[in-house]
Amino acid sequence: MVEVALHHRYDRDGFALEAAFAAPPRGVTTLFGPSGCGKSTILAAVAGLLRPRQGRVALDGMVLLDTAAGIFVAPERRRCGVVFQDARLFPHLSVETNLRYGLRRAPREAEGPGFEEVVALLGIGHLLARRPAGLSGGERQRVALGRALLSRPRMLLMDEPLAALDAARRTEVLPFLARLRDAARMPILYVTHALEEVDALADHLVVLDHGRVLAEGPVAEIALRT
Ligand code: ADP
Ligand code: ADP
Repeated sequence: MVEVALHHRYDRDGFALEAAFAAPPRGVTTLFGPSGCGKSTILAAVAGLLRPRQGRVALDGMVLLDTAAGIFVAPERRRCGVVFQDARLFPHLSVETNLRYGLRRAPREAEGPGFEEVVALLGIGHLLARRPAGLSGGERQRVALGRALLSRPRMLLMDEPLAALDAARRTEVLPFLARLRDAARMPILYVTHALEEVDALADHLVVLDHGRVLAEGPVAEIALRT
């Protein structure tokens, strides 16, 4: 389980985040809401890429952030696999080397799927010798997901991973995300403003607006009207 409680305010900006929720230990928790509602801010705080003014983040009881107690675990020690809108692969390295970089970052004792298993899961075996520039946007995202998974994270964080793709590519990548969700034995926090992605992937839903949680719960219990 990922427990999140955050208060944040940016300088020179009227935006105020005041949000708390708990993501279950398995499956996809979607942070859903319109642009500017605070989704990326929450994800960045969970990853340790942003220090909120106040808050607490705990993963399976392990405290990653607790401003009241003066605890801030550095991002590289949080073992979060993060995937952004753009794949952020190393452009000069082959797909295989990009993936093996993920594996190299995995702690020796960490359990998780092996290289072949991840390649098969994401259907990227035929791309291993290629460079990122020669891939479609959807293929690049599948490689980014593989690299994140191979680092054997304790949780996966995805910030609008399909938002930069056109509709056809999104449709192509969605089934791979669903397979990843079913295979991953860790919480997945998934930021999106797209209802189709909530429908296809969400197990647990956190609905946000203006930095606040409007509703939270198992997806079947929350009726979304847009
Ligand atoms: P979302 O991911 O839902 O689009 P964000 O978390 O990116 O929302 O942004 C929430 C609000 O905070 C927006 O009003 C945005 O302009 C503002 N914001 C985000 N990052 C910064 C920053 N680094 N400095 C100042 N304001 C920011
Ligand atoms: P996303 O598309 O993931 O919501 P954004 O495009 O909102 O991301 O933001 C991209 C980057 O710009 C983030 O690092 C965010 O913190 C920063 N940012 C967003 N809004 C502002 C803002 N008003 N002022 C400064 N930085 C911002």
